[in-house]
Formats: sequence, structure tokens, C-alpha cells
Amino acid sequence: MITIFEKIDSNNINMDLIEKAAGILRKGGLVAFPTETVYGLGADGLNASACKKIYEAKGRPSDNPLILHIGNISQLKDIVCDIPECAVKIIDRFWPGPVTLVFRKKSIVPDSVSGGLNTVAVRFPSNPVARAIINAAKTPVAAPSANTSGKPSPTRAKHVLHDMDGKIDMIIDGGSCEVGLESTIVDVTGKKPVILRPGGITKEMLEEVVGAIDIDPAVYKALSAGEKPKAPGMKYTHYSPDAEVFLVKGEKSNVAEKINQLVKQDMENGLKTGVMCLNSNAGLYKADMVVGVGKNMRQAGKALFDILRDFDENKVNKVYSEVFEETGEGMAVMNRLKKAAGYKLIEA
Ligand code: AMP
Ligand code: MG
Repeated sequence: MITIFEKIDSNNINMDLIEKAAGILRKGGLVAFPTETVYGLGADGLNASACKKIYEAKGRPSDNPLILHIGNISQLKDIVCDIPECAVKIIDRFWPGPVTLVFRKKSIVPDSVSGGLNTVAVRFPSNPVARAIINAAKTPVAAPSANTSGKPSPTRAKHVLHDMDGKIDMIIDGGSCEVGLESTIVDVTGKKPVILRPGGITKEMLEEVVGAIDIDPAVYKALSAGEKPKAPGMKYTHYSPDAEVFLVKGEKSNVAEKINQLVKQDMENGLKTGVMCLNSNAGLYKADMVVGVGKNMRQAGKALFDILRDFDENKVNKVYSEVFEETGEGMAVMNRLKKAAGYKLIEA
């Protein structure tokens, strides 16, 4: 398959291109497009065979359900049974935007979207290109991250091209993604809302509108064997570059000393090394690549996946990262980093 690659200006949207992309979706094809979180790999979310192609292109396990993306709020009632009170509050405050809600699904939603669950995850993205495509397709669009399953999510069109060239019909390049991490997922089917995956909309921001929220234990730690996750995607290793990633925890000066010592050993063994740290700490490290993730966790979220893919492009073998505070946007950053590292933690 030849993958069409087209650039689009989100401030001056070329509607011919949008129509072309929507036409491919309506015919059951796959189109990758930018959203404010990461690039999505879109298919007609009510067409089971189109959704099956997403699983094939990504190499995604079939029990890991997809998020349906809508282009306007009125589409929601077509796919969910009911909209609980807390969902209304979250929608009023944060939609369109980077938060996904899990509802009880209507039967029109195919099992291949919901992974056989009786619930469906729905998001209304704010990115104008994403919304234009969904509205032109006139159907909810299933759109998981447009990467090979298990690899870091794509925050630039070149990442999508790297993973999906020849496997999908079209890639729309709308520049780099604003948030850079996947949406926050909140299950609103129970008595109390539960965060299944942290993202750019933080626990603190959500609690301001709905009060106390629970966090699924799988957000912080690896599941033990046989433990069943609430968000099926949680059980898989994720976001991993080819390089082996380690988290190093402790006092700032101890961490720097430990990482420099590990890097020295690796270099003696002929390995290429990388370090990820706060910008302000970059001067403390010696390695082949020392990369500042940003000044704060919002910047780190935007840069994280891009940095992980950069290490691979530069053939880095081992990456050591500082551990960041798990509050605000740091919760999502640390959740992705721990998974990228396969939960390998070194105490300094
Ligand atoms: P992504 O492939 O990056 O878009 O991730 C989608 C995430 O949403 C995965 O972790 C899924 O497990 C989760 N998800 C999708 N649908 C549901 C659902 N009905 N209930 C719980 N989690 C879901
Ligand atoms: Mg993904």
C-alpha cells in the first residue's frame, strides 16, 4: 500500500484535504491525523472491519479497546446509554480537550472497538484538524495512537511515517502535538469517577469540578501476574524505545553521581548512553546524549515521546532518567516513564 502524506495548516485548513481524508474513512480506510494529545490512527468507529485494520497496522492485542472520537457533543448520545452527572460536569469544563470518558455503550458500537466490554471510551478532541476530519466523516472515529503497539506514541508526523508507512492509506501532517501525552481516561460508570490513565488534564483539575476522584492502582505500579486491569491497555508494556530505560531515584547529588558512574561503565563496555533530566540539572551529567525534558512537567509531557524516539534515532543503547514528582502533570509523565522503563528503578 502506498501511504499518502499531506501537510495541513491548522490555522488555514484545506477543506479539500479534509474531504479526501474523510472519504478514505467512510470507505473503511485508515487515516492518521494530529490531535492535541498525540497523532491518532483513525478508522470509522462504527465499522467493525475498518477497526480491525487498526489492530493489524499497529500490531495491537485485540483485547485492548479503542477510544471513539466525536466531532461535536451531539454525537455522544448516539453511542452511550447514559451520561452520569459527574460526566456532564467534566464535559462542560474540559470538552473539547484531552480527557476521555468511559460510558456504558450502546449496541451500535462494535465489539472490535470495545474489546468485548459493555463500556466505550469517548473523547471530543480540541484540535481543529481532528474535528474537521471527524465531522466530515460524519461518524465517530476510532483513533488510538498512530504508533506500532508498544513503542512511544507519535507526537510528530515523521514518527507516524516511521511506524506506519505502507500500512495505512494516509497521514495528515499538522505539526507537533500540543500536549504530547495521551488523554486522561476517567471511568464515569461507577459511584465515584476513577482515573484509569493520567494525562494532561490532571487529577487536581478534575477534582475542582467533581470532588474527590479515585486513581486506579495500575497507574502507579506494574500489575502482578493474573491481576486484571480496568483499562485493558494497562497490562501491556508501553511507550518503550529500543534503548533500555532505567529510572534512578534519590537525592539530587546522589542521582547524578550514580548515573555518571553507570554511564562510565556502559561507555567502557562500548555502549551508547543517554540521560534525561530537568533542564536545570543538565550540567550535572556526562553521557553521549544529555537531554533536558523541560523546566516543568508540562514541558516534559510535551517532549517525552519525542525524546525517547530521538534516542533510538541516535542508536542509544541505555537511557537513565531522573525520577520526577508525581503531582500535577508529573503523574502522567511518571506513568509513561515507568512503563517505558518496564518499572526498572535504581536507588541512588
Ligand atoms: P490508546 O491506544 O493510546 O488510544 O489507548 C486507549 C486506552 O483506552 C487503552 O489503555 C484502553 O485500554 C483504554 N480504553 C478504551 N476503551 C476502554 C473501556 N471501555 N474501558 C476502559 N478502558 C478503555
Ligand atoms: Mg497508544
